[in-house]
Amino acid sequence: MSVDHLAPLGVLGTEESWERLDEFHPDGTNLWSPDAPIALGWHPYTRSSLWRCAQCSGAFLRYTEYGGYYVEERIRPLLADLIVNP
Ligand SMILES: [Zn+2]
Repeated sequence: MSVDHLAPLGVLGTEESWERLDEFHPDGTNLWSPDAPIALGWHPYTRSSLWRCAQCSGAFLRYTEYGGYYVEERIRPLLADLIVNP
């Protein structure tokens, strides 16, 4: 996966859900654990955009994290097994 090959498909959140910061981690994962649930409607998926890789056809979620002193671009593969709708 190379960022150069990613094409945008759309955004997951809505204006209303943007401010929602609750995360869903019933099994003790954290925000970017490889096995963290992808909980639609929960942070950070309320702020993520969906991208498709032209090379491997994989789908990826991108999310920009704004810390106190940094801005970090996050990319996570969209794995069907991890998607939940709690
Ligand atoms: Zn790829």
